[in-house]
This record gives sequence, structure tokens and C-alpha cells, in this order.
Amino acid sequence: MLIGIGASDGIGIGRVMIIAEQSLEYTPREITDVDSELARLHDAIDKFCDNTIEQANAIRQSTGEKEAEILEGHIAIIRDPFMGGEIENLIKANQCAEAAVDQVCKMFIDMFSGTGDDLTMQRAADIRDIRDGVLGILLGVDEVKISDAPAGTVLVVKELTPSMTAGINKENIVGIVTETGSRTSHSAILARALEIPAVLSVENATTKLSSEELIIVDGSKGLVLIAPDPVKIEEYTAKRIAFLREQRELENYRGKATLSADGIEYELFCNIGTPKDATKAMDADGEGVGLFRTEFLFMDRDRLPTEDEQFEAYKQASLIMKGKPIIIRTLDIGGDKEIPYLGLAKEENPFMGFRAIRYCLKNRDMFKSQIKAILRASAFGDIRIMFPLITAVEELRAGKELVEEAKADLKASDIAFDENIKVGVMTETAASGVIADLLAKEADFFSIGTNDLTGYTMAADRGNGDVSYLYSPLQPSVLRMIKRIIECGVKENIPVGMCGEAAASPQMIPLLMSFGLTEFSVSAPSVLKVRKNISKWTKAEADAIAEKVMAMTTEAEITAYLDTVI
Ligand code: PEP
Ligand code: MG
Repeated sequence: MLIGIGASDGIGIGRVMIIAEQSLEYTPREITDVDSELARLHDAIDKFCDNTIEQANAIRQSTGEKEAEILEGHIAIIRDPFMGGEIENLIKANQCAEAAVDQVCKMFIDMFSGTGDDLTMQRAADIRDIRDGVLGILLGVDEVKISDAPAGTVLVVKELTPSMTAGINKENIVGIVTETGSRTSHSAILARALEIPAVLSVENATTKLSSEELIIVDGSKGLVLIAPDPVKIEEYTAKRIAFLREQRELENYRGKATLSADGIEYELFCNIGTPKDATKAMDADGEGVGLFRTEFLFMDRDRLPTEDEQFEAYKQASLIMKGKPIIIRTLDIGGDKEIPYLGLAKEENPFMGFRAIRYCLKNRDMFKSQIKAILRASAFGDIRIMFPLITAVEELRAGKELVEEAKADLKASDIAFDENIKVGVMTETAASGVIADLLAKEADFFSIGTNDLTGYTMAADRGNGDVSYLYSPLQPSVLRMIKRIIECGVKENIPVGMCGEAAASPQMIPLLMSFGLTEFSVSAPSVLKVRKNISKWTKAEADAIAEKVMAMTTEAEITAYLDTVI
């Protein structure tokens, strides 16, 4: 059995088709005719864009508009004047087009892939896909033909690129296994959109599996079973049927309120990264946005976004959400999340370094312009501000002071905004958990960021496989931290939500209901499932489970117990 990351739920049973990597090797040449090399480059980029439009149209037919947009995004990236200019400069310095494209893409890939942040790493995957596409055209390499795969095929690839996905016929492909990628990578998003079970990040999958071999892909658990016997095949066929039935049933939760079995109402929000994602949140039946990660507005460019540009983005999200609440998190950048134009120094220990609120408070003009943009957008909807990485009350106070200054500036210029805008704290550090009682007195709300809270509580990096056995929100320490944060919020009468991945975990849900969480913010595709999971429990049942769990000593004990009741 091989273990990876379950990235698209469901069970697939089929025969392996390994997609071998094409060789994109080239010998760098010094060129003399700059103009004709530039023309070669532009022809290749034009062809790449034509191919991409074709592939996007194919995806639009097979999957949907939003998925096509991921591919169309590649055109915007390769046509970006900054990136194009860098490539052209290398050609003007007598490098061949292959080397110029390769080097510039590599620079961006290195920049984005070292961050440990899913959204940024996704960008690296996009640029790798673009580089391979343009290099393939320059080198005259043929494209992989996935569209010819026979019925009952499980695709096994190093990395599933959005352009490969275009060739997938979902009638024939029953599963996907890759060597790279995470739950939030584009491959995962596309696999989920195609409703094909997928297991990503399976080490050496392309060498450990052989073509034509029968395998089972369990995309819910992240498992690949090799050469299953008839008993396993029967067991997994039954699981597959049960899964498909559940998917159909989930649609019954669309358009409904999020209620516990005894009628307690919860808020069920979505996490978004761009204003366009707000459409996904609405399509998924999200009741608001519990986390708008604003980093994207600052990435992929060569200067800070202006106040106006930010205002337009926040306003757009707010109009799309049609008055539903939006929690905008101020810039969570610095340290490991690099933005070249900010010129941040390399740090020994970026996760504990000069980042997020710490960086923003030292760069007041930049911070104030973001806050003013959020305030201006608050005239168009129910917008709230949230500060990331808070570790001390002074940081919250300083942030709030800046909000007041920004309000005064806007008032002086007669610009409308929500006078009573709520200012909350993202409780995602161990310190914020320990002083949650103090923070709750001065914050308007809390949102628990379990992705970081787990890491900072357990001193375990979320991206490091060697310590992943420690990285679990079901560790007694993390559960105590979460319970404490919620209780401190409840005591001061402020709402407490959760925007980390744990909010969508079926095992966590009854615990969070018992602790008193009132808002769950999850990725758009999880909305209906979370609504269903919340509806399973009465408060009394959730309390009974939580009481047992909180009396347990180890994560293993807790998981084993929860497996018996969930
Ligand atoms: C978190 O830390 O839980 C969170 C939601 O924020 P991010 O994943 O962006 O750090
Ligand atoms: Mg975080």
C-alpha cells in the first residue's frame, strides 16, 4: 500500500497508466541574431497561448468555467510585462530563448516554492507548467496524449498540470495518483472539480507502480492499494457506491441553514484568496467569508498594490457576497512568504521572524493604505478586519490605533466607511491562546487559525514530513488551546470562529460545537459536507464526546476513540 495526501474524495478502481515525463533538455547556445531569437520566443509564446485557449475551452466543456480560468491564468502570467521583459533581457544578452525562458521561470519557481505556503506553492506549479509548455514548443517536443486513455484508467504522473487535466475524459479516468502536490494545489482543485478520486504526494509513484497494474485509489484516506485481492475489490466497490450515494445526498443541504440536530444555528463561511473566489464561495452555498487571505493582491507583481487597487478588490468581493459577512485578514507576509519588491532580509527562522502584523506595524504607510482600502470597501458590505499572528495585546492595540487613524483620514476627506467596523484577532500562535483571556477583552471577535496554531503549539512545521506525526489538531495540547480560546471568547461575549483546516474535519466538528464555536470557515468544496456533519450532533451528544476526549492523554487514544463514534 502507498500513502499520500487524499486530495479528491472517492474511490477509484482501475488500471495504471504512467505518464512519463518528456525530456525538455536543451544545450544552452550563445545567439548572435537577437531579433530572430526574439521572434522565435514570441512565436512560441503565441503558440503556447493558442494551445492554452484550446485546452481551456476543452476544460470549460468537460468541467466548468472556473476550472478553465485556472488555465487561462497561464496566459496572463506568460504575457505579464515584467516576466516577458526579464526573458527578453536575457535574449538581448545573447542567451538562446530556451535558456532565457528556463532561467526566468526557475527564478519565479524558486521564489514561490520555498515558502511552505500552499497558495504560493501553487503559483510555482503554474509557472512550472508554463515553462514546460513553452520549452516543449521551442524544442518541438510532442504533448502527452491523455485523451486516448481507455476506460478504467488510473493516471499516474509526477505532477498533474492544469494543461494535462485538459485532456482528461472523466468517463475514462477513474483515479489520479501524483508524486507532488497538496490538497490546495491546482491539481487537487481540478481533480475535485472533475470529481475524480486523487491521491497526491505519493513518493516515487511513477516507479513503484507499473503500467496496466490493477490498483485502488482511496482519495478520501490518501491510500493506493496495489494488486488488491477479490475481497478488497468487493470491500472498496461497496465503499465507492456508498460514497457516490453520499455525494448525491449532500445536495439536500444546499440552500439550508446550518443547524445542529437540536436546532442550534451556526455560521458556515468560506476561505478565499482572491475576489473571484468569492464567486466560488457563493456557488458553494457559503454564508459569508471567514478568511480573505489578502497576500495574493501583493504577489505576482513588482510593486505594492495601491490603496485604490486594493479597495477595488475588496469592494468586488463584497459586491459578489451580496452583503454577507467578509472577514479580511490584513497582510500575512514576510519571513518565508517572499515578495521580492519588499526587499526583506533572509531569516534564520522565518516562521518566528519578521512577518505578518509585525512587519505591517513597522511599515505603517503600507499598512494604513491596506486598512483604508478595507474601510472604504466596508461602505459596500459587511466587512470586518482581522489581524494575523497576534502574540501580544500591544499588537492588537497598535493595529486598532491605526484603524482609528485611517478612519480619521477618511472622515477628513469625506469618504464613506462603516464606523462600527469589527476588528478581530486571528488566534494562531501559542501566545495568543495563552493570553486569549486578555485579547478577548479588546477584540471584537476571534478566528482560530489551526494551521498555524497546531504548528506553533506543537513546535512542528506543517510542511515537514519528518515531524508530521506531531502536527495534528487532535493533540491534547492543541485541543486544550482551542477550547481555551473559545471559552475566553464566550466569557467576553465575542464570537469565535475557526478558519484553519480543522474546521472542516468531521472528528473536530462535535468537539468545536461542544466548546462553543459559532462560525466555521472552510474551503468552498467542503461547505455542504460540514453542514451535514454539524447536523449530525445535538449539543448534548457533542458535549459527551468532548468530555471523553478531553479526559484522554494521547492523540492516538483520541483518534482511536473518535474513529468509533464518527
Ligand atoms: C491558519 O493559520 O490556520 C490559517 C488559516 O492561515 P494560513 O493557512 O493562511 O496561515
Ligand atoms: Mg496562519
